[in-house]
Amino acid sequence: MIELLLPKHCAGCGAAGRALCSACRRHLARPPRRIFTPVDPHIPVWALGPYSGVHREVVLGMKERGRRDIPAYLGAVLGSGIEHLAARGELPEPESLTLVPAPTKSASARLRGGDPVTAVAKSSGLRVAGCVRHGSQVGESVGLSASARRRNLAGKVILDRIPPAPVLLVDDVVTTGSTLAETASVLFAANVQVAGALVICVA
Ligand SMILES: [Zn+2]
Repeated sequence: MIELLLPKHCAGCGAAGRALCSACRRHLARPPRRIFTPVDPHIPVWALGPYSGVHREVVLGMKERGRRDIPAYLGAVLGSGIEHLAARGELPEPESLTLVPAPTKSASARLRGGDPVTAVAKSSGLRVAGCVRHGSQVGESVGLSASARRRNLAGKVILDRIPPAPVLLVDDVVTTGSTLAETASVLFAANVQVAGALVICVA
């Protein structure tokens, strides 16, 4: 709320003036790179940056500090990252893709005033289908090992409807890869082609 009333400062570095300063925008505009997670989701995964510095600050800005002005910028970055990967032949044509935001705890998303990952995906201009969610039984994942996280999630990601394929999963932060793995597996089980996952940060 305060962010809406006061003069803006950069969500990446705190500099006064704009929602994102030009140095932080250049930093965020770097192309995505392929990453490998402890839990293998059996799809290629790319990250826009590390969970540190500017990338971490903008994600925390959206998730924890109510920066509603950030998804529009990150959506453009996400869209150009997808175009970059499509131009390299690593993803299908962007227009053919459906972006599926990874499941988030609905209660925490509500508390934050909406799911920022969905807001970023929608700001990319590409087709978005919010079709997966956590079941009610999912416990807190913070502090769990990769295998414990996988057990925590196993069978607990719910597919509400079949999205148009091919699908690209989108998430804010990937750590073990267990959420992406579980989400990909429920889509595979429904015969949905999953082209990969693009995340903002890799922890
Ligand atoms: Zn900045």
